Formats: sequence, structure tokens, C-alpha cells
Amino acid sequence: MHYSLLTLARQALRGHRGWQPVWRDAAPRQSYDVIIVGGGGHGLAAAYYLAKEHGIRNVAVVEKGWIGSGNAGRNTTIIRSNYLLPGNEPFYEWSMKLWEGLEQDLNYNVMVSQRGVLNLYHSDAQRDAFARRGNAIRLAGADAELLDAGAVRRMLPLLDFDNARFPIKGGLLQRRGGTARHDAVVWGYARGASDRGIDIIQNCEVTGFRRNGDRIVGVETTRGAIYAGKVGLAVAGSSSRVAALAGLRLPIESHVLQAFVSEAIKPFIPGVVTFGAGHFYISQSDKGGLVFGGDIDGYNSYAQRGNLPTVEDVCGWCYGGFKATPASGWCFAHLLARDEPHPLAAAYRLDRFKTGHLIDEKGQGAQPNLH
Ligand SMILES: Cc1cc2nc3c(=O)[nH]c(=O)nc-3n(C[C@H](O)[C@H](O)[C@H](O)COP(=O)(O)OP(=O)(O)OC[C@H]3O[C@@H](n4cnc5c(N)ncnc54)[C@H](O)[C@@H]3O)c2cc1C
Repeated sequence: MHYSLLTLARQALRGHRGWQPVWRDAAPRQSYDVIIVGGGGHGLAAAYYLAKEHGIRNVAVVEKGWIGSGNAGRNTTIIRSNYLLPGNEPFYEWSMKLWEGLEQDLNYNVMVSQRGVLNLYHSDAQRDAFARRGNAIRLAGADAELLDAGAVRRMLPLLDFDNARFPIKGGLLQRRGGTARHDAVVWGYARGASDRGIDIIQNCEVTGFRRNGDRIVGVETTRGAIYAGKVGLAVAGSSSRVAALAGLRLPIESHVLQAFVSEAIKPFIPGVVTFGAGHFYISQSDKGGLVFGGDIDGYNSYAQRGNLPTVEDVCGWCYGGFKATPASGWCFAHLLARDEPHPLAAAYRLDRFKTGHLIDEKGQGAQPNLH
């Protein structure tokens, strides 16, 4: 079903009784060319681009809960490409370009809002570091502007500019950055994938792998075995657990990351603002809620719930892969279709943990040394 003003008008005349489900909730078949484990944004985007860019449609996305029940449906929705390092910037900028055309591509309103992402700086040294990052961003063909305190004050007069400890001296602004509605991104990719014949299978947890010698030939699930030519994992914080089922020990750890949303209030923050002297950022959702977040919890966990100590302690920042969703799906589809990494994702190969070539950057605020 194509969404347009005309479709809306037609449905209005019929009392909105003719809308079809946005995607097909499929039952598992015996085998597929490709199975993608994980129905978050990354898994669904990879499935969508596999069909659209590589013509591979005999694909299943297998999700243990409902699609979008993981990180994709509970993040703070920031999209940006304001990174310094060569391995990061081209990848995230490609993601930004995909975001900019996503609604037309998917024919679905994912509420991309380029309201700007502003990283505040609080010292001359931090200004110099931000100037360097801004120059690197611009050299890579993306946008960045270094603002002085006056320019920030005109944008955000309510901030505490003359705080004795952390005075606001200016900011690094990426105007093309902003937010996108996280659930809609999941639904939009699911719709695009489903329209192209891809099976989206919910309530189907992968509990093991089927092998033929060294080769993985399928997955064991709570809804039976499903065979596949290739199996891709897009299970985010469960990656090490699911990979362990296939006998792979991944060099990564999982942590909980928490965020908060207030009740709706009148608009007062036009864009996304990050504090430069600690881990804290804030934005305001279209509904009016203030969205703000913290750093990851300090211990490893697979839990998907918050806790009270963090509520008391948050001065934090969230980071990660929501903004990467389109480019991640694009590059993962390339890897699955062609058996070689896409050049934009080559720097994220697993062997970086072995060689020490980590891309140690969050692309915001103070020097965080996390990756
Ligand atoms: C509080 C918070 C705020 C964040 N804010 C931002 C932000 O502002 N900007 C940004 O860019 N990023 C942000 N992130 C990070 C971002 O949300 C994630 O990196 C991104 O959404 C990951 O997408 P995904 O599709 O890989 O994972 P997910 O959406 O988690 O999808 C993985 C799916 O795999 C499923 N799964 C797991 N195990 C199995 C199994 N055995 N069988 C079948 N299915 C399985 C899960 O149920 C889940 O649905 C934030 C994260 C959090 C938690």
C-alpha cells in the first residue's frame, strides 16, 4: 500500500477501514538463503538493503520478542555524523545521507528532524579540540560550525553560561544532525523488507545453531529449526551470548545504558545539546518530553531494564548505533551478499581487537576514551 495524501483522503472517505497491516507477521519456513537474527533497526535495515540493493529476497528476520523491542525502540533517537576519526566519519556521514532520503526511499514517515546537534565547550583547550574535529568533519564533506558563546546564547538563552566551574564558551554545531522517531524507523524498514518478500518472524528466539562440519547451516529456535545458506547476527547487546552458541568468543562486553524522558512540557530546547564537561545531553521530543541520558552502567549486564541508583546519578550520555542504523544495514547487506566488508565498514572488522586498531571515539563532549 503506497502512502500518500491521496491514500489518506481515500481512507478518510471510507472511515479508515481499508488500511492494511504495515508488514506481514510470517511463520517460519523450512529454509532461506539468509537468516538475520535480531529484529532491531540494524537487522531489518540489513534485510531491506539485501532485497533492494542486492536482489536477495529469500530472507528471514528472526526476532525473539517483537520487532523493535530491543535498543531500537528505547534509545534517545539522536542522529549525527560529527566524528573526528577516518574510520568513523565516512560511515556515519553515509548514514546521515541515507537518513536524509529515508522517508522517500521507504515511503514511510520516520520523523527525521534535522534540528541540529550542539556540543558545548567549556575551556579554550576544548574549543581547540572541537575546532580540530570540526575541520576534520568538513574535510570529510560533512557539516560543522564552531560557535562562540554569543551565538550559543542566541540559540539557547536559558543555559547557565557563567557557571564558575564550567562556563559555556561556545559549541560545535552540526545543523544536519538531529533526531528520528525510533519505532517508526523499525516499522519503516520492516514494511520495506516485508513488501519485498522478506519474512519477519517474531516470538522466535534463536537457541542454537545447526552445523554441517565447520559450516553453520541453520538455526535452532523456539519455533523449530530453520536452515539457511548464511546466518547474520544483529543482536546488539546479546552478540556475545548468541555468538557463543555458535562457538565464537567475541572480544566485547555488554553494559546497560539508561535514559530518561520527562512528562511533556512546552517547547524550550530547539535541538540536541550535549554538556562538554561530563556525560550528559538533552533534547525535547516532538511530544514535549525532555529526553536526557547517562553513561553506561559501570558493570557488565544483559539486563534490559533501569535501576534507581542511576536515576539519582545521571549526568550522562548515551551513544551507539541508532544513528548508524541505515549505514549499518547497508554495509551488513553488502557483507552478506558479497562475502566481503563494504569499504565504509572495513575499519570495524573484528580483527581490530587483535591488532589494537580500535576507533576510540564517541564523537561528542569531553574526551571519553570509550569505543
Ligand atoms: C538508553 C539508550 C539510548 C541510546 N541513545 C542513542 C542515540 O541517541 N543515538 C544513537 O545513535 N544510538 C543510541 N543508542 C544506541 C542504539 O539504540 C543501538 O546501538 C541500536 O538501536 C542498536 O540497534 P540493533 O538493531 O543492533 O539492536 P536492537 O534494537 O537491540 O535489536 C537486537 C534484537 O535482537 C533480538 N535478539 C537478541 N537475542 C536474540 C535471539 N537469541 N534470538 C532472536 N532475537 C534475539 C533482541 O530482542 C532485539 O530486538 C542508545 C541506546 C540506549 C539503550
